[in-house]
Amino acid sequence: MSHWDVIVLGAGASGLMCSATAAYQGKSVLVIDHAPKAAAKIRISGGGKCNFTNLDVSPHNFICQNAHFVKSALSRYPSSAFIELVERHGLAYETRELGKLFCAERAADLIQILRTECDWAGVNIELGSEVESVKFKQDQYQVKTSQGLFSTSKLVVATGALSFPKLKATGIGYDIAQQFGLQVIKTSPGLVPLSFDGKWQARFSELSGLSMDIIATANGHSFKEAMLFTHKGLSGPGILQVSNYWKMGQVLEINLLPEFSIETVFEALKSLKLNGKSLPKWLNQFWPKRFTQIWLEAFPIETVLSNVTDEALQNYAQQLTHWQLYPAGTGGYGKAEVTLGGVDTDEVSSKTFEAKNQPGLYFIGEVLDVTGHLGGFNFQWAWASGVACGLSV
Ligand SMILES: Cc1cc2nc3c(=O)[nH]c(=O)nc-3n(C[C@H](O)[C@H](O)[C@H](O)COP(=O)(O)OP(=O)(O)OC[C@H]3O[C@@H](n4cnc5c(N)ncnc54)[C@H](O)[C@@H]3O)c2cc1C
Repeated sequence: MSHWDVIVLGAGASGLMCSATAAYQGKSVLVIDHAPKAAAKIRISGGGKCNFTNLDVSPHNFICQNAHFVKSALSRYPSSAFIELVERHGLAYETRELGKLFCAERAADLIQILRTECDWAGVNIELGSEVESVKFKQDQYQVKTSQGLFSTSKLVVATGALSFPKLKATGIGYDIAQQFGLQVIKTSPGLVPLSFDGKWQARFSELSGLSMDIIATANGHSFKEAMLFTHKGLSGPGILQVSNYWKMGQVLEINLLPEFSIETVFEALKSLKLNGKSLPKWLNQFWPKRFTQIWLEAFPIETVLSNVTDEALQNYAQQLTHWQLYPAGTGGYGKAEVTLGGVDTDEVSSKTFEAKNQPGLYFIGEVLDVTGHLGGFNFQWAWASGVACGLSV
């Protein structure tokens, strides 16, 4: 059995960050991961360019039952610290809308930076290694893997969450938490496309690939971003964001004219009526033509509004700005970028990430009940929690 100061389970975003940080403090660090390559999610994230952080990160960008939990780590390791790290490595990156930062070339460049940091710090990484059991004996954790038996007094669980099982995501972190008596908050897919059935599924499928700007609202949370039509329903940033708040059976409301309110749409419709102007032509200024066509088939109204009553126009303005839809479900963990819920943060220190009732056991990254909005916030959480834990172990 070989002994290490720190063993990190998971060579993903938070695990690599934590390992390098701990090894720079002079600790011997072993990282164990069952995947053949490190950080598979970074590789495919952000369409292969990884939205690795955001210029404007605040605790409001996170969903967690304990709203204060994220504050300490995020303030100790802000996005500027990660930007400084990647700049030191010469990473070319680009700033996109809403402060999102992406690699200019490939997400793999970012993985290389993390691997280089781990190499410089002297971290040992065992890939393709199945974790068979974790035991706690005489203040030591014994980790049995397909490669052997390892012991440590500091075990960091950085095994992520359930989304994208095809990238070897598993719930082992929740199992370890429960084994040591920690609560796990019920999980569900987050940042996930919404599916539809019946006539809307057929209509959305016809529009598949089209995108338009909207405001999506569910459960009192609104996001003004793009919506993408897919074969099964709706996706795109605005829908993924709101999916974190939408629950089965609830309404999804969409403002199809995000620069307008119901009042300003009503005024615009009245002006079209007065001037004998065409409604489809007006809508086509804002929408892809194919959507205008499908919309008018679903919600018919005269092309020229001269004979339409003001009451009907008011109702139509309501329909355009508060379109109510009932999704049939979500794309599930297979299509979800993140997992809502996870290890209860009330049971973990927000400064060190150590379990309050189990000395030497740490949880970081997405395995915790912390979910970021879309926009680089989930990786920023992985970096910040990884660094805080790496400094404390
Ligand atoms: C398609 C997609 C796109 C995304 N795009 C973005 C984006 O652009 N920006 C953003 O901020 N976030 C994005 N995310 C979310 C982001 O990838 C995660 O929040 C982040 O990777 C979580 O870091 P982590 O270290 O907690 O877990 P991970 O990075 O998932 O790492 C967990 C590691 O644990 C290993 N592991 C799991 N189970 C076991 C086991 N049983 N034994 C041994 N090892 C195990 C895994 O192989 C993996 O290497 C995206 C996610 C997906 C799925």
